[in-house]
Amino acid sequence: MATATVSGSKYDARALREKYLAERDKRLRRDGEAQYLEAAGDFADFVEDPYVEPGFTRDAIVEDVDLLIVGGGFGGLLTAAEAVKRGIDSFRIVELAGDFGGTWYWNRYPGVRCDIEAYIYMPLIEEVGTVPTERYAVGGEIFEHARAIGRHFGLYDHALFQTKVERMAWDEAAGRWIVETSRGDTIRARFVSVSQGPLAKVKLPGIPGIREFKGRMFHSARWDYAYTGGDPSGGLTGLAGKTVGIIGTGATAVQIAPKVAPYAKRLYIFQRTPSAVDIRDNSTTDADWLKHQPSGWQRERMENFLAIVSGAHVDRNLVNDRWGDLWMRFGELMQTEFQAGGALTPGDMMQRADYEKMEAIRRRVAETIDDPEQAARLMPWYNFLCKRPLYSDEYLPVFNRPNVSLIDTDGRGVERLTENGLVANDQEFAVDLIIFATGFDVGAPPHKVGEYEVTGRRGITLDDKWRHLRTLHGTQFSGFPNLHVVGGTAQGTTAFNFTHTLLMQAEHAVDIVGWCLAHGVKAMEVTPEAEERWHDLIEAKHVDHQQFYEECTPGFLNNEGNFRDKPTYIGGTYGGGPLEYEQIIREWRRDRIQDDTVVTPLD
Ligand code: NDP
Repeated sequence: MATATVSGSKYDARALREKYLAERDKRLRRDGEAQYLEAAGDFADFVEDPYVEPGFTRDAIVEDVDLLIVGGGFGGLLTAAEAVKRGIDSFRIVELAGDFGGTWYWNRYPGVRCDIEAYIYMPLIEEVGTVPTERYAVGGEIFEHARAIGRHFGLYDHALFQTKVERMAWDEAAGRWIVETSRGDTIRARFVSVSQGPLAKVKLPGIPGIREFKGRMFHSARWDYAYTGGDPSGGLTGLAGKTVGIIGTGATAVQIAPKVAPYAKRLYIFQRTPSAVDIRDNSTTDADWLKHQPSGWQRERMENFLAIVSGAHVDRNLVNDRWGDLWMRFGELMQTEFQAGGALTPGDMMQRADYEKMEAIRRRVAETIDDPEQAARLMPWYNFLCKRPLYSDEYLPVFNRPNVSLIDTDGRGVERLTENGLVANDQEFAVDLIIFATGFDVGAPPHKVGEYEVTGRRGITLDDKWRHLRTLHGTQFSGFPNLHVVGGTAQGTTAFNFTHTLLMQAEHAVDIVGWCLAHGVKAMEVTPEAEERWHDLIEAKHVDHQQFYEECTPGFLNNEGNFRDKPTYIGGTYGGGPLEYEQIIREWRRDRIQDDTVVTPLD
């Protein structure tokens, strides 16, 4: 057997690879993403808004605006803030929820917290003056910051909450998007920017019996505190004497379980694939340090983090947290190999760094869990980047509690629900409450997330467009003048810190809108030639992760194991990485905006 020794950590590389593949094989399933149910139609009650008073009504609005922003999460807020900064004041924000905040409005489950450092995740903290209390902020604080952005930039006056866009269509003669909403509004907008967010479309497991269960159940993104008692910080006294089942062990469940465990009589955690849970090491903010940061520090810190996780060389690692650990290990290995005159490729080195990282994660499980058999069941066997990395110092110790049972299904998952509870491993577990921590349809296009149709020139819909996807920068589309996507990942980009992606694309969209308004543009449409060039670049820059993802355990990053059915260079992100992407879109605005677009002047 081949043995590799890295930084004092011994492992058998060939045996590990075989183990990873065997664990993947257990989990591969033909139905892939189709295994999940949309929380719509018969399951629409799972996504009702528990945070608003029922019965809200208002008069319908008919109005003309320069800019309509769809979505009031950070994407929409950053777009609106940019508009205000540039003196664009004729804009409207339409938001389904009862307030700003997006994912932080909906996700109020106990323990909710952002695992990207608050100083880079919470955008505009310099402008707004927010001081995050901790390095990794709780959800409520991030939600409050979203609201503070709303107040700071006067955005509440522009918002229509509890309002859903139903459809939008381009009116050629008027040079406007005609947008209709669930409240009977008609908004005639010169420009539209959509920010639907990647975590908005709730997923349920497509298992039989969901409607048979007689107890209480909800998705983590719609927590029912009336039932559980308490609030996001804990105190779930309503669970006293109750048996609770959590389906899922992803980023959300890892935060929920430690809050539920102290209050429930019994907690069953149903595991299909163990998560790789790294160290959190949170700390309170040194307000003095924050106060003495020079102007522009946040952007610099965001860019530094992005450089680290993009594998770029930096002189200083400003954030220096566990997100960068894999890349720092990789950098060290590369340097050692280079100095030794070795012949290993960066790919080989990355795999070594990954094995080493995952060994450390598995060692942590062994060191934390009292029962070795239980520890073995909690160990993840896949490459670190096969699943979204998780960080928690509270999750693993939960399994040492006498009232918590890990129900490891060895890759099969919960099979069905019954009147009394859940069936897994051919055994029924009676429970009072089921929490679906089963995630979101992460890759859905914006109009699918928002459940509205967009009809552009010549009657072409965004849905048609998506079938044969062509975009410019993942944010503009030929056939759809004056339409922008903020948060566009398909042929766009994604930074690990998602608000950074939003910031760069919001600046891009509003810069273009501002240019059009200043130049008397009625309609600006990117040309099919520009889209083809972008498509060619996407292909040319495509980093072939085919083998890597094929060997991964299934998850939303590899189309639930059906990676071949969905080539990522078409619907994936720009292969040159987010740093290069940001430079490209900046330069495009400076040098190419007129070459790559067809412009119709105002009458
Ligand atoms: P995920 O999609 O990450 O996890 C869903 C979980 O449900 C997985 O463990 C999955 O198992 C499991 N599952 C699905 N079907 C079944 C079944 N039939 N039986 C048993 N288990 C099942 O969803 P999350 O809500 O945890 O996270 C979604 C995203 O939200 C994250 O990737 C992250 O981007 C974001 N998030 C971010 C946080 C932050 O700190 N910034 C915090 C929380 C969420 P399997 O792994 O086998 O598929």
